[in-house]
Amino acid sequence: MTFDFPADGEAFTKASTLGNFINGADQPAIGGGLLPVENPRHGQVIGQVADSDARDVEAAVAAARAAFPGWRDTPLKERVQVLFRLKSLLERELMPLARIVADENGKTVAEGVASVQKGIECLEFGISVPNMAAGGQLEVSRGVSCRVQYEPLGVVAGVVPFNFPIMVPMWMLPQALVAGNTFVMKPSEQTPYGMARVAELFAEAGLPAGVLNLVNGGRAAVEALVDHPDVKAFGFVGSTRVAKLLYERSAATGRRALCLGGAKNHLVVVPDADVALTAQNVIASAFGCAGQRCMAASVLIAVGDCEHVIDAIVEQAKAIRLGEDMGCIINAASVERIEGYITDAEARGARVRVDGRGAGQGRAGYWVGPTVLDDVTADMPAGCEEIFGPVLSIIRVATVDQALAIENANPYGNAASIYTTSGAVAEYCVQRFEAGMVAVNIGVPVPREPFPFGGFNRSKFGHGDITGWDGFRFWTRPRKVTTKWALQADQTWMS
Ligand code: NAD
Repeated sequence: MTFDFPADGEAFTKASTLGNFINGADQPAIGGGLLPVENPRHGQVIGQVADSDARDVEAAVAAARAAFPGWRDTPLKERVQVLFRLKSLLERELMPLARIVADENGKTVAEGVASVQKGIECLEFGISVPNMAAGGQLEVSRGVSCRVQYEPLGVVAGVVPFNFPIMVPMWMLPQALVAGNTFVMKPSEQTPYGMARVAELFAEAGLPAGVLNLVNGGRAAVEALVDHPDVKAFGFVGSTRVAKLLYERSAATGRRALCLGGAKNHLVVVPDADVALTAQNVIASAFGCAGQRCMAASVLIAVGDCEHVIDAIVEQAKAIRLGEDMGCIINAASVERIEGYITDAEARGARVRVDGRGAGQGRAGYWVGPTVLDDVTADMPAGCEEIFGPVLSIIRVATVDQALAIENANPYGNAASIYTTSGAVAEYCVQRFEAGMVAVNIGVPVPREPFPFGGFNRSKFGHGDITGWDGFRFWTRPRKVTTKWALQADQTWMS
């Protein structure tokens, strides 16, 4: 793969046509199909990516199946050496990787750097797995011992979204690979270049051919992957609609699946909140990555008189420089969707205090400016549906319990935060939010490693979380071995 990076990382850059990465080699889709990949900042095509079908999936699964016995039989302590070397390579390539992410996704380069660094942190957890994977052994009766060992499943697969092209794959790969599985990954067809480069770096780090394979494309490739009888576990991150669909489709075959979906994250602000901390934090959460994060603040529920905090948020939102502090939107359809939510909320009586509509006029690419909607109600689409853009909806209520009732009633359950200087109020909310990742005075409560990542309700289908130790358990199966070597004189039920 070639990608000529401009010095500033934001000028327009062309990339080579990208095939699939199967058995360690770049291969075009068997049917010859190609999809265009755009740079959303410039609104121009960067290059073409393979549009794969079931034949390509078959080739990737066959490569992964062939590589499995050798990789499984490589001792864990040796497998992990690949990840150690990969960490050095990712650090060496931090800026080029960040620029790929910025180019194909539209993030600022600084956000690209942060996303790769978070991917490296996920890798560090994978590197630590040998220190935890020893299992356990116990004498459970006289002369009888039991032990548990975690073994790989075989060929496993993952499908990922556009918004973190390197970081989200790194939620899955370190644990799955260090456990001894071989992997077929389907990157987003909108942002396939980042993972393609990481796959090359895995190979440079010494990962044997066939252990990690990439199949590019869209729905046809995903459906072939989720239906493939040799895929033993299926991980997905993306929208709720697709997560639920694929979870059900995977479960129907009896295969384990963990499918993370969309979000509508609520930040509850009470009058005693620290103004400077809250305003800066809410702004970073709502408008970082142009709101295209499953952890982005989406609804601010103001309890009582929070005018001073809201005024500070509005002022800071107005000061955000588009293209410098905040990147762009992934594509034209998303701009239309986001602007549609703003217009609809306005028509229903919301006050548009900061208006990001029309930000793209007169410039190339796909843009929506920071938007603050006030007097939103929980039943407006902007108040309850995932917008996935830089829009903060403010709902006003009188009590903390009313705020919790709104948060609890929302079908999603990824993240929720309380902004207060009162420990009692904080703990009251923390224990009552219907969200898997909750916070006090933090707008993007992504659990840092080793704590696992995952939401509740319609933000996740399946059991357990995708990162941390839960991730390792998802990609392995526990074998329980019970052993006795001599007849015992004093009989027990195990004799
Ligand atoms: P998406 O669901 O449209 O696409 C995700 C993946 O699924 C892509 O690889 C795509 O090719 C594939 N896909 C799309 N439609 C499909 C279909 N009908 N059948 C089979 N496969 C299909 O999501 P996106 O737009 O790429 O990403 C944004 C979404 O991801 C948001 O909803 C966001 O909240 C969510 N997300 C969730 C998390 C989380 O941890 N819960 C993290 C990141 C993103």
